[in-house]
Amino acid sequence: MRKESQVDLVNIPGPVEMILRLLEAHGHAAHCVGGCVRDSLLGRTPEDWDVATSALPEETLAIFPGRAFPTGLRHGTVTVREGSCSVEVTTFRTDGPYADSRHPDSVTFTRSLRDDLSRRDFTVNAMAADLRGELTDPFGGQADLKAHVLRCVGDPEERFGEDALRILRCLRFSATLEFSVEAETARGLRDCKELLLNIAAERVHSELTKLLCGKAAAEVLREYPEVVGAVLPEIRPMVGFEQHSCYHCYDVWEHTLHALAAAPQEPVLRWAVLLHDIGKPRCFTRDERGGHFYGHPAVSAEIADAVLRRLKFDNATRDAVTTLVAWHDREIPRTEKGVRRALMKLGEERMRQLTEVKRADNLGQAPELRSRLREVERGAEILDALLARDACFSLKQLAVNGRDLMALGLRGQEVGAALDRLLCAVVDGELPNEKSALLCAVRARKFAETPEEQRI
Ligand code: ATP
Ligand code: MG
Repeated sequence: MRKESQVDLVNIPGPVEMILRLLEAHGHAAHCVGGCVRDSLLGRTPEDWDVATSALPEETLAIFPGRAFPTGLRHGTVTVREGSCSVEVTTFRTDGPYADSRHPDSVTFTRSLRDDLSRRDFTVNAMAADLRGELTDPFGGQADLKAHVLRCVGDPEERFGEDALRILRCLRFSATLEFSVEAETARGLRDCKELLLNIAAERVHSELTKLLCGKAAAEVLREYPEVVGAVLPEIRPMVGFEQHSCYHCYDVWEHTLHALAAAPQEPVLRWAVLLHDIGKPRCFTRDERGGHFYGHPAVSAEIADAVLRRLKFDNATRDAVTTLVAWHDREIPRTEKGVRRALMKLGEERMRQLTEVKRADNLGQAPELRSRLREVERGAEILDALLARDACFSLKQLAVNGRDLMALGLRGQEVGAALDRLLCAVVDGELPNEKSALLCAVRARKFAETPEEQRI
């Protein structure tokens, strides 16, 4: 095996160093492996540190009495706890056959680091470094890292066939590291895409979210729509769907990708932008004025809801994304009153997110067609100004509460209804947010009638 050179393990945590030292002191090989070596070579601080060792799990357990726990013994993983730090220490292993495109039927422990590295997914993830930073790189990971290339260790089709999650990991790394995919590996991705149906929704969800938040997410989706389409079939109708509209120079998918690239790299925003126009193909109509997509935000929100449910998103994220999708095409309030009303309905966080989605939606159009960008920015300025002076837009901020109204003799549902009307009046600037003025208005029974339909 070639021992190529040194790596400076960036910000290696004390407990990881201690674990490597102790394993070595007991005569075992011990290395940092995978992502932490890759990230260190890229000069980035790794998020997590994985240790691989020639020690068998029971040997590792014996070296760290009371501090080591058999968290994944079947795969040779022992978790060593040092203070608040938990480190996974895994025995060198090779994987047996994979019957389910995800999990090896059996694993075999080995004393060979090279064999352990050969089961790893990509060359850039198949490097190890010991305590002294001495690098083990049997598959040319360093060269691929320098060339910004993702390449399977071994035969791509075989590797993706063993574990289809690697297909999504490949796209995710391509999006986050901004690496290209080597040709054979790219062919493997495409040929094996149907196997993605064997992957648990939670794993798809987490990989897709990381992919979407990557800097090069749009490029990856543009290059592999059919692969992503294997787990998100709802995106397929967008690809190449012409809009026949003077407001758009791109088809629905290209517009979505341009908007995605313009959106902040944050899960809720990236998912909302990916899905914002997903209902357009279903809503398409055409007349002498061109193409129309009447009602597409509601249809997009419905599809988004189904996608996020299938991928087992938590309710809060699903609610946020579907709200943003449903609201993305509403006219932007250009007046303080309009922004206040929108704030009352959506709250500050969602309003700020909506601004970002609208901004990205506009930036996703050709420069000469970004007609509404100025309105978005105007709305954002009004929002900032309102929030800066602590304007009232929620019941929490109202100068009176339910108890105050009950003291005036209101009961049951009357209380909530009166509070809502007071809030509307304050938001619309008809009343000041002052306790005496609000109580006075209630006493005068100004709030008996139903308020007009609230629009923004
Ligand atoms: P991240 O930055 O997301 O932590 P990572 O490469 O460290 O990226 P992990 O899931 O932490 O990913 O896995 C650690 C290492 O285990 C990988 O670098 C790779 O060597 C190996 N590995 C993880 N998942 C797979 C897989 N599905 N198939 C083969 N090897 C894998
Ligand atoms: Mg990792």
